[in-house]
Amino acid sequence: TTDIYYDDDADVSTLDDETVAVLGYGSQGHAHALNLHESGIDVVVGLREDSSSRSAAEADGLEVVTPVEAASRASVVSMLVPDTVQPHVYEQIQDELESGDTLQFAHGFNIHYNQIQPDEDIDVTMIAPKSPGHLVRRNYENGEGTPGLLAVYQDATGNATERALAYAKGIGCARAGVVETTFREETETDLFGEQAVLCGGIAELIKVGYETLVDAGYSEEMAYFECMNEMKLIVDLMYEGGLGAMWDSVSDTAEYGGLTRGDAVIDDHARENMEEVLEQVQNGEFATEWIAENQANRPVYTQLNQAEKDHEIEEVGERLRDLFAWADEDTETDDEDESV
Ligand code: NDP
Ligand code: MG
Ligand code: MG
Repeated sequence: TTDIYYDDDADVSTLDDETVAVLGYGSQGHAHALNLHESGIDVVVGLREDSSSRSAAEADGLEVVTPVEAASRASVVSMLVPDTVQPHVYEQIQDELESGDTLQFAHGFNIHYNQIQPDEDIDVTMIAPKSPGHLVRRNYENGEGTPGLLAVYQDATGNATERALAYAKGIGCARAGVVETTFREETETDLFGEQAVLCGGIAELIKVGYETLVDAGYSEEMAYFECMNEMKLIVDLMYEGGLGAMWDSVSDTAEYGGLTRGDAVIDDHARENMEEVLEQVQNGEFATEWIAENQANRPVYTQLNQAEKDHEIEEVGERLRDLFAWADEDTETDDEDESV
C-alpha cells in the first residue's frame, strides 16, 4: 500500500521565515496563493507585466511582482503557469534559484519529459491537488481539504518531503490526505487517464453512441438524453459508491444488458488501442508530438477544437439545455478549469 500523509504529519512552520513565490494566478495559482497566505505563509505572486490576472491577485490582497522578482525573493517557487508555458518561464527565473531552494510543481510533465532540467542543488517536488483550483479554494474556505499527490524528484536538502508536506498542509490538501507517488507515475497516469478514459474515451463513447442512434433514425433529442445527459446521473452513482452503487441503482434489465453487452463495445480491440495510447505516453511519443504542436502554433489542436465545437450533439445540447430550466443548477461550469 502507498503512504498517505495527513495534517499531523506536516508542519506549516517549516516554512516560517521563508517566502513562497506562486507563479501564475489561474485555476491552481489563485487557490494555492490564497490558501498558503491564509495559512500564515509569506506569499508573493509572480505575473508578467501585462498579465490579465494581475488585478484579481491584487484585489485578493496579494502582492504581485514579476516572475523573476518573485523567484528571487522566494525560497520555494511554485510553477503554476500552464504546462506549455512553464519551460519558457523557467528560463526566465532559473538564475534566481539558489542552492537549497525548492522548485514546486502541480503536475510532472515538464520534469518527467526533461523540458525543465533544474540544477542538482535544488529540491524538486510536486504537490498536485486531485481537483480543479476552484474546489481547492472552496474546500479550504469551508474548513475541508482536497486530496493531493506528493512526489519528490530531487532531494538536495534532505528535507524535500518535509518541505513539500508543509506546502501541502498550507493549501489544505493534508486535511484530506496526500498520497505519495513519483513524477513518472503521476505524469503517465494523468496523461493516460485523460486521453483514454476521462476526456478522450468518454467524449468518443458519447458521440459514437449518439451517432449510432441518430443514424438509425431516432430523434436527436432522444439520442442526446440517452447518451449524453444521463451520463452525469450514472457517474454520480459511481462517484458515491463505485460501480456497485451504479449497478444496484439501475434496473435489472439495464444491469443484465450492460454486463453482457458492455465488453462487446469496449472489446479486446479497444483494450489494445488503450495499451498503444499508454505506450505513446510511456515512450515519450505523445509528449514530443504535443511539444512540437505548440512550437508550430497548434495547427492540429485548433482544427480539432473547432470540429468538436461544430459537432451536431453540441447544437442539440444547447437547444435542450435552454428548454429545461432544471439543468441550470447542474451545469455550473467554471471557465478557468481546463485540465484534468
Ligand atoms: P492556468 O491556465 O489556470 O494558468 C493561468 C495563469 O498562468 C494565469 O495567471 C496566466 O496569467 C499565467 N500565465 C500564462 N502564460 C504566462 C506567461 N507566459 N508568463 C507568466 N504567466 C503566465 O493553469 P492551471 O492552474 O490550469 O495549471 C497550472 C498547473 O497546475 C499545471 O501544471 C497543471 O497541469 C496543474 N494542474 C492543474 C489542474 C487544474 O484543474 N487546472 C489540476 C491539477 C494540476 P496571464 O494573465 O499573464 O496569462
Ligand atoms: Mg434507460
Ligand atoms: Mg492532466
